[in-house]
Amino acid sequence: MAIDYQLFMDCVHCGLCLSSCPTYLETGDENDSPRGRIYLWRAVTDGRAELTPEVRHHLDLCLECLGCETACPSGVQYGKIIGSYKKDMTRILPPAPTVNWLQRQMLFHLTPYAGRMRLALAPMRLLQRMGMGGLVRRMGRLLPRSLRLMQDIVPTLAPHYGRLPEVLPAEGKRRARVALFTGCAADAFFPQTNLNTARVLQRNGCEVWIPRTQVCCGALHYHAGLEKQAERFAADNCRAFNKGLHDGLDKVDAIINNAGGCGPVLKEYGHLLEKTPTAGVGAAFASKVRDISEFLVELGPAKPTHALPIKATYHDACGLSHAQKIRQPPRQLLGLIPGLELIPLNEGELCCGAAGAYNITQPEMSHALGQRKAKNILATGAQAVFTGNVGCSLQIIRHLREIKPEMWVAHPVDALWASYSGEMPKGVDWIVAG
Ligand code: SF4
Ligand code: SF4
Repeated sequence: MAIDYQLFMDCVHCGLCLSSCPTYLETGDENDSPRGRIYLWRAVTDGRAELTPEVRHHLDLCLECLGCETACPSGVQYGKIIGSYKKDMTRILPPAPTVNWLQRQMLFHLTPYAGRMRLALAPMRLLQRMGMGGLVRRMGRLLPRSLRLMQDIVPTLAPHYGRLPEVLPAEGKRRARVALFTGCAADAFFPQTNLNTARVLQRNGCEVWIPRTQVCCGALHYHAGLEKQAERFAADNCRAFNKGLHDGLDKVDAIINNAGGCGPVLKEYGHLLEKTPTAGVGAAFASKVRDISEFLVELGPAKPTHALPIKATYHDACGLSHAQKIRQPPRQLLGLIPGLELIPLNEGELCCGAAGAYNITQPEMSHALGQRKAKNILATGAQAVFTGNVGCSLQIIRHLREIKPEMWVAHPVDALWASYSGEMPKGVDWIVAG
């Protein structure tokens, strides 16, 4: 077993984490709570319980959102406990029966590759531009369920920006030199967010380097317990950011990412690579990783100028709020935008059910949590919802599609760039005009 047994002992069974656990709130079953899962996994480790399909179901249903870590007063490192379960499962058991062969191919051999994803989404992008997106979606209902689930998450796709130069100059006096991590699926689904991140950084006096050979952060593999594969992505990124940049990694002030799901894994590279020849670079890389919002707030953001007179709300992506403890910086950036009124979101820190590949591996629970999030967003009366992670954006768009398709779902940097530049994304002008 991969578990450090002492981790179990930190839990004093107080139950204070229960109300922060999305799966427990949905089922009311103690086995679907953090306390219950710790108890189950410890009993299996001790040999007091069998790893039956039922026990496995309760453990697999965990979103790894880490809401329980935030709530726990005893400092239980729940992420390490459930991580050890994932690692052991990939070693001793066949893949979870809820994921079929085709889905595994798409998850591990398509999604983490930016180029393949762009190619795979190209026909959809074209059909949407021809005004046939709705028809394709309706036809998609004829697909087998496993493919339908994947097709269902595709949002309205903005045109891709193509290829950015390797180095973008700072506007005005240079305040920092940064490298930009562009990700894989995020770049294919929401290319405008990467473009806006680069422009916002330039506007804030940053020279932006975009290493050509960078790859996926490895999060999908890492959370599936496939640590060796995740290690390879980490080592490739260390090479890309260290050797790919003219002066090397030590010449950049920060490595910027804009996806709450990627940040925690990028910050783990030191640990992930510690037993490999790239250990030193891994630690250096990890120490420079910053979410765009945390970096801008540390730097002191340039004042946004154009008014955005809208009511908006903010959903805390788990990877930002629970894993990286980044809660205020995105709100601070949104708060700078003239005219934007930020309305608090009920259960704002509760996972939306996206959680990496969770909508594929646990579609029913993912759907229930997506609906719950959509209801809470609607209750705010907001015209826009901002969130700092691609998976959350996809999930929220999907669950608002039927009830409020005109809602602007975007990343805080999209709002920031709109305010800096006065350029509204297509379809948003009416909100601001109204
Ligand atoms: S994980 Fe923490 S909050 Fe939850 S039961 Fe254990 S000690 Fe209490
Ligand atoms: S990680 Fe999230 S889903 Fe899993 S036990 Fe903790 S709060 Fe519940």
